[in-house]
Amino acid sequence: MCRPLTISLAMASMLSTVVTNTTIAKPASAARSFKAASNAASLRPSVFKLTHNPTLRFEARRGVAMASAGGAETQVQKSEEEWRAILSPEQFRILRQKGTEYPGTGEYNKNKAEGVYNCAGCGTPLYKSTTKFDSGCGWPAFFEGLPGAINETTDADGRRVEITCAACGGHLGHVFRGEGFPTPTDARHCVNSVSLKFTPANKS
Ligand SMILES: [Zn+2]
Repeated sequence: MCRPLTISLAMASMLSTVVTNTTIAKPASAARSFKAASNAASLRPSVFKLTHNPTLRFEARRGVAMASAGGAETQVQKSEEEWRAILSPEQFRILRQKGTEYPGTGEYNKNKAEGVYNCAGCGTPLYKSTTKFDSGCGWPAFFEGLPGAINETTDADGRRVEITCAACGGHLGHVFRGEGFPTPTDARHCVNSVSLKFTPANKS
């Protein structure tokens, strides 16, 4: 009983709950919770050490900070009015209001030229033409974005994963995985042409 206990942080969290529950247990349930109480009593020092470990607390704080940094905050911050001023009505509808262009109509759906696809909102490079493939879905498809250029967020209904420009938050489309396309990633970034601005490669 007095041996030092080796327990994980996750267990410590669970055990903290046990300690709390045991502490507030009413006398009537004392017999029933006796075992839990004695366990909690012997574990309490370890829990104390874990929860008061400065390194672990630092890691926890850092985790929270990273989570908030990965949220809606973006480098390019503009008001709705500012976006309306620099985007066409169709670009605003899709990039800022998460609209979708009609399938098969997009400027880049069949584009096979070499170059880079940039965000139509802020100009950040998003996709290389070498990652574009013909998915037959009616929208430009890419099997991967440039590193760090694209954020993924699961839709509220949990059915699809939205992709946005990491720099300005502009809506690009959705990413689908595991569909069986013969690409290196088996991912399909289904992107509105309106969200993109293509820059042809310099052939010189
Ligand atoms: Zn952007």
